[in-house]
Amino acid sequence: MIPWLNNFLFAILPGTCIVCDASTYRRMDLCIDCELELPWLKNACLSCSIPLPDGNSVCGRCFFDKPPFTRCHSSFVYTYPIDRLILDFKEHRKLYIGNLLATLLLKTFPENFTPPDLLVPVPLHKSAQKRRGFNQSLEIANVLSDKWSIPVDARNCKRIVKTTPQKSLHPKDRAKNIQGAFAIKNPYQGERIAIVDDVVTTGATVTEFARLIMDNGAASTDIICIARTPL
Ligand SMILES: [Zn+2]
Ligand SMILES: [Zn+2]
Repeated sequence: MIPWLNNFLFAILPGTCIVCDASTYRRMDLCIDCELELPWLKNACLSCSIPLPDGNSVCGRCFFDKPPFTRCHSSFVYTYPIDRLILDFKEHRKLYIGNLLATLLLKTFPENFTPPDLLVPVPLHKSAQKRRGFNQSLEIANVLSDKWSIPVDARNCKRIVKTTPQKSLHPKDRAKNIQGAFAIKNPYQGERIAIVDDVVTTGATVTEFARLIMDNGAASTDIICIARTPL
């Protein structure tokens, strides 16, 4: 929504919390208590962002098999109520929830953060895009792009294979399932790229996508997502 219109609407109508339904008395549809109680990701692998009991280290998997991306930035652990909110955003087309989650994601970057050169949302296969009517990762990327004043590129890469949904597969079969699923039109020219995704689960999808981007001229690739599943 246009920022001034959004502010105007919140000025005349109080926000309603998307978690507890109470009036929020702020320009956001999330009350301060629910915001503080969200499962913010605090301790995580320095590379892939998987939640760890001790956050100041790299997980065993990243240690032995270095991912093609530099690091994954996630704001939440994929658990209640974030799981429900993401489901509402994706499956029930509640785009305002996606916008709110992306605004919260922005809060988890430090003030002195240097944004990437380009945001690349994980592409959906055209059949999934048609069914859903939008790409959730592009919606998130657009919010980051507005804030950081950097471009989003959602056309150069495509998902060319209609893969079996990753969540229905055993973790060890996911990398194989997604292999060769993406294609790129034009090589990059040394940009620092951030791939944007809604949820990173085993990391198989973003690993495959980051490998393609790194093999095609990017200087570096990071992952930015709303939530990361626990171990
Ligand atoms: Zn609330
Ligand atoms: Zn890791």
